[in-house]
Amino acid sequence: MRYISSRGNYPEVGISEAIVEGMVPKGGLFLPERIPTIDFSFLAKANYHDVAYHVLAPYFCEGEGAYTEAELKSSLQEAYNSTTFDTEEIAPVKVLSNRVGILELWHGPTAAFKDMALQILPHWLVLSKKKLGKHTTTVILVATSGDTGKAALEGFKNIPGTEIYVFFPDEGVSLVQKLQMLTTEGLNTHVVAVEGNFDDCQGMVKAIFANSEFRAKITSRRYELSSANSINWGRLAPQIVYYVWGYAKLIHSLGLGIGHEIDVVVPTGNFGNILAAYYAKQMGLPIRRLVCASNQNNVLTDFLRTGVYESKRPFYKTYSPSMDILVSSNLERFLTEITKHNFLKIQNWYLELQEKGRFKIDATTLKGIHEVMWGYWTGEHQTLSTIRQVYEEENYLLDPHTAVAYHALVQYWKDIEDKVPVLVCSTASPFKFNGAIYRALFDEEAPENEFEAVKRIVEKTGLTPHRALATLEGLPVLHRDHIAPKDGLSYLEGKLLSKKHVRLKKPSS
Ligand SMILES: *Cc1c(COP(=O)(O)O)cnc(C)c1O
Repeated sequence: MRYISSRGNYPEVGISEAIVEGMVPKGGLFLPERIPTIDFSFLAKANYHDVAYHVLAPYFCEGEGAYTEAELKSSLQEAYNSTTFDTEEIAPVKVLSNRVGILELWHGPTAAFKDMALQILPHWLVLSKKKLGKHTTTVILVATSGDTGKAALEGFKNIPGTEIYVFFPDEGVSLVQKLQMLTTEGLNTHVVAVEGNFDDCQGMVKAIFANSEFRAKITSRRYELSSANSINWGRLAPQIVYYVWGYAKLIHSLGLGIGHEIDVVVPTGNFGNILAAYYAKQMGLPIRRLVCASNQNNVLTDFLRTGVYESKRPFYKTYSPSMDILVSSNLERFLTEITKHNFLKIQNWYLELQEKGRFKIDATTLKGIHEVMWGYWTGEHQTLSTIRQVYEEENYLLDPHTAVAYHALVQYWKDIEDKVPVLVCSTASPFKFNGAIYRALFDEEAPENEFEAVKRIVEKTGLTPHRALATLEGLPVLHRDHIAPKDGLSYLEGKLLSKKHVRLKKPSS
């Protein structure tokens, strides 16, 4: 498989290069030159590794810099096993009484779905560098709205030949998310609080990537930048797998046959997760429609309805902070696919977005989108009432992001006449967002100490908190750096280029 730039501004590359580069150096995202289709009849008896292998081999095992089948299989073993995940199923599906399947993507080490990709990406990065004969130190830059940060830190911790820098919005993540990141050990980990929101963090990281002068300077020190955000194709590809897996589980639970159509609902922020569902559909998985669920930051809902992407709007901090995003990076890949690789259109729209903060797509493109994807958004009050209602009716506790998706489904069902089985992506354990869960269950302000809230939620529900959180209380804070968004570049220069910097230095505490 060869990978092209969404803006047609870069030579085609093989899989190893696409993963090592992370993002097209001149702006734009790598995507496969074509989408392979596969025969899903193997699904009836497949385990997670079988599914992953079948789905990923066409993307990874052909062409320049390709992996061997044995290499792909061993990376899957290292990433998805009973040490890294707390269930052999990796991503179980809970079917509710209304035949909705909840695809639980949070059984990995950090309790969010980002683990599904970030447990495997580091293995691929090491392998890809080996294939390309690179001996540089890869500097992974991560902008996070809360969950990617910890998942990337866990994935890359102590991986030889890598340094990881995570930038998070200081006021924009939950206490548990913050503590998870700031207590990360590892000799190559760096966690930096940014005075701003997620878009500031992401904008800062993208600007550093696009700064060729800076890249040249660090190259002379044998450093190279890469990304663990979903702008990296290596983040996207593993996410296609669980849609195929979840489909098989749901269809089997409902006693239906492979081939039966389903709808998929995805709580969306940076558009990576739902884009993976789109790839699964294009690969031939019987998905009828994708429902894009947003919170109060409903830029995508508006876009999907009007064709106008308007990023200049109020930014809300919500109960589902991992979706508090106004510039959804992976939309660019989706538009590239929908326009059948019309690079000129993509270039123009993204230039407009950069210059004016908005762009408008043409009617044909919008029509193409409507054939596969509809958008809904869920307000704050409805997020909590959905958590409460599903808990009371189904004895099942949704996290706030999954609740946003669930309520989108309720709205979607009002708009359609012919229901088919539905898979709802559950992107985080409820125990990552205890403030909101407490409010939903007890209808009062959560206790200031989040661990106190956890105790009471456990008392009420009888659930066991995710193992990622069980040991968090009382761990020492190991990272204290704090910067303004405009200082990202100079911060990194100081770290990478100052003579004093010693690689693999222990973070100061
Ligand atoms: C990252 C995240 C999302 C949004 O996923 P995207 O791929 O960015 O659209 C939703 N929910 C949770 C819990 C997340 O961590």
